[in-house]
Amino acid sequence: MIDLRSDTLTRPTEAMRAAMAGAEVGDDVYGEDPTVAALEERVAGMFGHEAALFTPTGSMANVLAVASLVAPGQEVLCESSAHIARAELGAHGAISGITMRTWTHPRGQVDLGAIESMYAPDMGPFFVRTAAVSVENTHNFAGGTVLPLEDLRALRAWADTTGARIHLDGARLWNAHVATGTALADYGRIADVLAVCLSKGLGAPIGSLMVGSADAIAEARVRRKRMGGGMRQVGVLAAAGAYALDHHVERVADDHAHARLLGEALGLDPESVQTNIVVVERPDAPAFVAAAADQGVRIAAVGPRAVRLVTHLDVTRADADRAAAVLARLG
Ligand SMILES: *Cc1c(COP(=O)(O)O)cnc(C)c1O
Repeated sequence: MIDLRSDTLTRPTEAMRAAMAGAEVGDDVYGEDPTVAALEERVAGMFGHEAALFTPTGSMANVLAVASLVAPGQEVLCESSAHIARAELGAHGAISGITMRTWTHPRGQVDLGAIESMYAPDMGPFFVRTAAVSVENTHNFAGGTVLPLEDLRALRAWADTTGARIHLDGARLWNAHVATGTALADYGRIADVLAVCLSKGLGAPIGSLMVGSADAIAEARVRRKRMGGGMRQVGVLAAAGAYALDHHVERVADDHAHARLLGEALGLDPESVQTNIVVVERPDAPAFVAAAADQGVRIAAVGPRAVRLVTHLDVTRADADRAAAVLARLG
């Protein structure tokens, strides 16, 4: 089976496991795990922010990050197929008391005109107050699309004049960085707070970080503990993340090349496949998924007519070629 359902399916490599086994650890709730502290400091620095917080999941990093900008009863604006809107099971409402309004863009892009027309920081006692805008780079359900730095900078400039705050869901910001050559610090500069995952294309078994100001991270550390997310000798996991940052960032370029092969086999313009995700329309997505599985290729339906394929560390060039042949035959 060639498994293209998600880039979360990777298993830690032998070398990553060795790094985990050798990690120096302490009780991180006491602030005494040196491996976690080093990872947090390193990742904060990569994005030009003051501090970072290690979390078990990207969803928790997003919940903590958005809650650092948006108070209960306020709203965040985002694209309608954003992970925070579709794939976090309503956590921002259920846990943080936050509502959302959305704009829709087929490629998950920033629509500043739509944002400006929705933005309502204070329209009197009848309207929900907008506190923040959230953007996702790369955009998962739009097919791993990259948000151009110019658009993010325009959003930042608008936010600076209006007082809106910006959350960046950067679960796959590494892929955007490698695909475009944009410096991580340039992405960091456009956001008040961001979330990044080590457990997607980078291949760590678990782990994400929220990145932001020292104050926001101090508050998030309290909220994380309240949510039951205070972890103890978690340096063994942070070590996997540090190993992934050392060895698995630049190689995502291979995943991008493999995704272009698959996109082409499915009849897409390969140029439209920007990173490691391919989303295509098929009249009956579940039937297409089942037919691919019969031929040894596992893919996922992400809507009744939308199919998603994701390349990652455990998919070789030979796997990609074989999967492309199967998918091309299915049509
Ligand atoms: C995977 C993902 C997350 C976080 O997911 P977890 O499974 O909770 O780690 C957040 N945002 C995007 C865009 C994602 O793809």
